[in-house]
Amino acid sequence: MAGTLTHPYNDIGNLWLRGSFHGHCSENSRCASLPLRDSVQWYQEAGADFLGLTDHDAITALDEMRRMYPDIILLEGFEYSSCENLLFVGEKAEPLYELPLGEALECRGDDLLSMVCHPTPRVEGPEYWSLEKMTELGCWPDGIEIYNGHYGTETGRANGRQPLGTGLWDEALTAGHRLWGYANDDSHDPEDLGNAWNMVAVEERTEAAVIRAARAGRCYGTTGLLLQGIDVDGAHLDIRLSAPARGRFIGSGGAVLKEAVDDSFEYTMAMEGYVRFEAEGDSGRIFLQPLFSQ
Ligand SMILES: [Zn+2]
Ligand SMILES: [Zn+2]
Repeated sequence: MAGTLTHPYNDIGNLWLRGSFHGHCSENSRCASLPLRDSVQWYQEAGADFLGLTDHDAITALDEMRRMYPDIILLEGFEYSSCENLLFVGEKAEPLYELPLGEALECRGDDLLSMVCHPTPRVEGPEYWSLEKMTELGCWPDGIEIYNGHYGTETGRANGRQPLGTGLWDEALTAGHRLWGYANDDSHDPEDLGNAWNMVAVEERTEAAVIRAARAGRCYGTTGLLLQGIDVDGAHLDIRLSAPARGRFIGSGGAVLKEAVDDSFEYTMAMEGYVRFEAEGDSGRIFLQPLFSQ
């Protein structure tokens, strides 16, 4: 029986903007070596459309950079860092890091995007974010950082880090929490620049439109592999990528439902609670948002 799917890729236009929501500057994060201006200049030259500056419990003022680099959308924010880290980013941010995290989440406005950061930062070691800790907050963020570029570099991996956060994502989705996945480079050092980003389908090229689309899941995460098209007809999905890759449809419990090497992929959903698609190839990885069977 063909059902209909609930998903964020309905009626998206052709205006896709590229950018990372998570990054630091040496002026306001001791762990970062990149000065603000070098960073903004690098992203503008690399063709990024937007960039989030999210220092640890600090809001970096962007007025001067916005004047100097009018071609890139600069987003203000912070990384809540006095417990397991959580990102807040928007056109304008208030110092919500002064509040307990649950309260900060609860009183954030519609104009702030929020996400759990690098939920599994180490290959081995103590637990960081868990579904239990997220539940205890009493208020859910918009999503989870499912790829953190800073932890995927050679230096990051040599230090026992790992970039993927899809384990917690599947756990949350399986439990019925509709959280979106985001990919960021979490730039601290030159090695991080452009390692991961989001493609966001917007109605217009403004700060507010980027945040609105990202909060609604009208985006996907990538480290280089791009989406050429997605068609949803009833319960049937057709996905086309920019290059051949090993792609898989993933469902409840993180189970691999179908896997193939190709540049186009199809799947018909039955009664799975959710299905999401991810792939990796020579040009990188891609992570689409989940589609729900009701
Ligand atoms: Zn840091
Ligand atoms: Zn960070």
